[in-house]
Amino acid sequence: MANFLDETQSMWLETVNRFMDKEITVEYVRKCDMNREYPYEAYEKIANQGWLGLLIPEEEGGSGGDIFDYSLMAEGLGKFGFDFACSVLVPTFTAMNITKYGTPEQKKKYVKPFIEGKIRFSVSISEPDAGSDAANTKTRARQDANGDWIVSGQKLWCSGAAAKNTVIAMLVRTDADNKHGGLSVLLIPNDTPGLVINKLPTLSRHATGTTEIFLDEVRVPRDALLGEVGQGWKIITEHLELERCAVAHAYTGNAQEAVSAAVRYAHQRVQFKQPIWDFQVIRHMLADCQTQVDAARLLCYRSAKMAAAHEPCSREVSMAKLYGSETLKSCALTGMQVLGGYANLPEADMERYLRESIQCTIGGGTSQIQKTIISKSMRLS
Ligand SMILES: Cc1cc2nc3c(=O)[nH]c(=O)nc-3n(C[C@H](O)[C@H](O)[C@H](O)COP(=O)(O)OP(=O)(O)OC[C@H]3O[C@@H](n4cnc5c(N)ncnc54)[C@H](O)[C@@H]3O)c2cc1C
Repeated sequence: MANFLDETQSMWLETVNRFMDKEITVEYVRKCDMNREYPYEAYEKIANQGWLGLLIPEEEGGSGGDIFDYSLMAEGLGKFGFDFACSVLVPTFTAMNITKYGTPEQKKKYVKPFIEGKIRFSVSISEPDAGSDAANTKTRARQDANGDWIVSGQKLWCSGAAAKNTVIAMLVRTDADNKHGGLSVLLIPNDTPGLVINKLPTLSRHATGTTEIFLDEVRVPRDALLGEVGQGWKIITEHLELERCAVAHAYTGNAQEAVSAAVRYAHQRVQFKQPIWDFQVIRHMLADCQTQVDAARLLCYRSAKMAAAHEPCSREVSMAKLYGSETLKSCALTGMQVLGGYANLPEADMERYLRESIQCTIGGGTSQIQKTIISKSMRLS
């Protein structure tokens, strides 16, 4: 795949991969999963590299990288599992909403501390009755006489919201009579009095964690509004395109590692006096997997290239998200078969890749929703 990337891009991907191998390590990622611990130490190391600000414009203190650079970082960070990648990707793609829509005061308050790793961001769109139908948001926000926001409702599945010093970009309803136009985004620090955040005991996302959030007349200052009243749906739609592009790359990075780990194991494991790699049936399973990973990666690179060039690409991003997530799921499942009984143990990592892959065809918009987006572009006019 290297010939698809130019020399600088190849070197950047290699740098992130090497950083994962040497500075983060699969053992650390596994330990965070087993203990359901947020990867604070790794997050700090990544902040120290300056990578949190990769996409943020230089005039705001970031590196001014483009979406392709960012996506290659996502691919590298995904190597040892999607949950780990999420701990960095969720804050970084959510931060871009502040860069795009924040007031000068909001940027001053949040952007530099974020780049330095002192605060992080989560995005809270989903609710019990607002999943694929995300605009069905019911959490209400009204302004009191001082202009402060009073927020009541329940949000669900907000990843990373229980981690220290996290600011939640929360989609709320500000107009009950206008489904899409009645939504706004508030920036709510997770230590705001009255906010109740519970980490959920989910199958995947053990380390970053995903949460339910209860709000009962929670007071949020007036300057917490991101963008304008009623602009929430536009902000979230743009947010989701960047999120899907990033996560698709992370799925592909993890799918590659699942296949590589299975190939390594197949060469080592001897049965019937020969490495199981020598059985053609095993080799063919892995050849199918590698073909899927390469195809997923090409879809990813196409979408990132178009996004970096500011070309309309929601169809291409959805294709990358759809195919990347389904590829990770099928490669992890094949990996389980190739690794036999050993695959069940945490130290084999494959059961973790499989657990996490099951969420990948749901989070950020399900595979069915991606197909709906893709098929919209196929209508005969
Ligand atoms: C671990 C985890 C982390 C998450 N992190 C976050 C986060 O950080 N922030 C956040 O806001 N959300 C987050 N989510 C929520 C995620 O985005 C939603 O779960 C997802 O959008 C699907 O919504 P749902 O679970 O309510 O499923 P539903 O929308 O109820 O869907 C159930 C099934 O019906 C299908 N379906 C629904 N509508 C249609 C349709 N129109 N056409 C065809 N099929 C349809 C779906 O594809 C799915 O198969 C997370 C979820 C999980 C599990």
